[in-house]
Amino acid sequence: MIRKLLIANRGEISARIIRTCRALGIRTVAVYSDADANADFVKSADEAVYIGASPAPQSYLNIEAILTAASRTNADALHPGYGFLSERAHFAEAVIAAGLTWIGPRPEVIALMGDKRRAKLALKNIPLVPGYNGDDQSDTTFQAEAGKISYPVMVKAAAGGGGRGMRVVISASDLNEALEGARREALQAFGDDTLLLEKYIERPRHIEVQILGDSSGKVIALGERECSIQRRHQKIIEETPSPALNSSQREAICAAAVSIGEQIRYTNAGTVEFILEPNGSFYFLEMNTRLQVEHPVTEGAFSVDLVAWQIRIAEGESLSQQIFPAQAQRHAIEARLYAEDPASGFLPSTGTLLKASFSDTIRVDSGLGDEVFPYYDPMLAKLIAAAPTRAEAVRKLDYALSQLVLLGVRHNAAFLRRVLADPEFAAGEFDTGFIERHAELLADPQPSSTVWLATAFAKLQGDGANAFWRNNRYRPLKYTFAYGDTQRDILIMPHADSRFTATLDQQEFAVRTFPEQPLSLEIDGIRCHLPVEHQGDSWWVQTPEASYRLGWVSPLPVGVKQSGAQGSLLSPMPGQVVKIQVEPGQQVNKDDLLMVIEAMKMEHRITAPYDGQVAKLHFEVGQSVQSGVKLLDLLPSE
Ligand code: ADP
Repeated sequence: MIRKLLIANRGEISARIIRTCRALGIRTVAVYSDADANADFVKSADEAVYIGASPAPQSYLNIEAILTAASRTNADALHPGYGFLSERAHFAEAVIAAGLTWIGPRPEVIALMGDKRRAKLALKNIPLVPGYNGDDQSDTTFQAEAGKISYPVMVKAAAGGGGRGMRVVISASDLNEALEGARREALQAFGDDTLLLEKYIERPRHIEVQILGDSSGKVIALGERECSIQRRHQKIIEETPSPALNSSQREAICAAAVSIGEQIRYTNAGTVEFILEPNGSFYFLEMNTRLQVEHPVTEGAFSVDLVAWQIRIAEGESLSQQIFPAQAQRHAIEARLYAEDPASGFLPSTGTLLKASFSDTIRVDSGLGDEVFPYYDPMLAKLIAAAPTRAEAVRKLDYALSQLVLLGVRHNAAFLRRVLADPEFAAGEFDTGFIERHAELLADPQPSSTVWLATAFAKLQGDGANAFWRNNRYRPLKYTFAYGDTQRDILIMPHADSRFTATLDQQEFAVRTFPEQPLSLEIDGIRCHLPVEHQGDSWWVQTPEASYRLGWVSPLPVGVKQSGAQGSLLSPMPGQVVKIQVEPGQQVNKDDLLMVIEAMKMEHRITAPYDGQVAKLHFEVGQSVQSGVKLLDLLPSE
């Protein structure tokens, strides 16, 4: 029996495997890179071993460092998670050779299924997409074969994964260029430029089947997963049962998956991927010889723990005596939370996480640290809802997405909500082109008045009573924020009892604040809690509909600001105060001399960037100052 298991992975999947191990009574060892030193998954493991620098080749792909970590901690088993080394047959071999239990299928099976071309050639009586899987890799042969298949065709890397090395080709004149591009990408990503051709299926669905196989040759299917909501050929929403299958189609597709598992004597958990044509025909695409990102959907619908079964199977347990539900007992749906901006081509986003919290109403698999780094996949978490019906599961997922708080990076939570709310999605009528066809779902709405007000009041809370003290008490305090090209002034007039009148675009709002975190505001009688955090002048605000980054606009006149004069109230460099020309309360005009700082054997004149009144001096003559510190407060005149 396994007593201690090392997880050769990171993030949410590491954290998820740790949870099952704890439930089974198995100690865990996490491995981590520099970037992940403060990540949740490292803290939740029983032990953790540093394996190298942040770039994956130096850590999570470093076989030697991982095996050394296993031997130093006396781990007796290794779970590869998904991605990284999970489908490298030579890694599985090395793990087994080191005397560890490998949580996965036999290395030969990983190698066979890892080559889409060989996999297809090896299978019998399984429907395949019409295509070319031959050894002859010359352009002329591909041209001839593509003509036979008829355009459009798809060029794929035999070793491909994650949508890389893949090209859709509409006509013969584009084929050579696509072959060249796919070869280059495949060589770069997989070290193998072997290609294959497939007929490009129009408006297809991606349906996959979860299988489990034991060492006696018994293979079972645990239903299908519908994974057609994709961007850039990568899944973002998955569910089971698929709204597209009737029960006889479901039976047929599951039987095909079990047949594949039996033909290759598959052991452990695996996924057989199919493509479903609008006419109901399905074809084998490829097999993933590992746990999938979207496995929780099956867990939610079938009430099973797939990681626990992976471990039991690796320990030699037989599936024959087990009773699994014959079909899904509930509808389950997962959404993947990515640090990316749907409105700019799903560009990944990196940055410091100022705040992150998830709803406790549904299952959330996450493993965040303090920061989102450029080294790894931008997936941050998965939210999984299960309920008796599809509509209820979707509603629960939508609610949890609306509750999620993630400030400091751009993310796709609000976009996911818009997909869930789309009538075609709600009706279950979609295919893999859904997102491309629905460009209107990509962009967030413009900030509402609540967003502008919440940001202004969050800044007011941070500035404290000072903000008013400095202000002329009979005039409202003014804050200006910008969102893209839009700029808004928010005027705030205080009354008694934390009540204010705020004006935005000539509209007045009665606002009341409450001393809570996150900021609690009552606007015209409606109380709301909006998470707001800032990093310098960037203010992150989240609503259920969107998350925004607003820029605080300094009250200094634009011309003055552009001339860099704002800095003249700050020390330009480390030095010593040699002269002070003004005293508190004094009125000064723009460009009047305020102070002189000596630094690097030169005198620097600090002059007034605008007309105003000197409020406070922060230094005396003779004191030394650091670079960038505020030398004095100057209140602008009206
Ligand atoms: P990868 O291994 O890179 O993920 P797959 O072969 O699994 O590549 O395909 C990924 C996605 O690409 C599928 O889910 C589907 O959306 C699309 N796709 C793959 N093959 C075809 C095809 N022959 N016709 C149309 N779409 C396809």
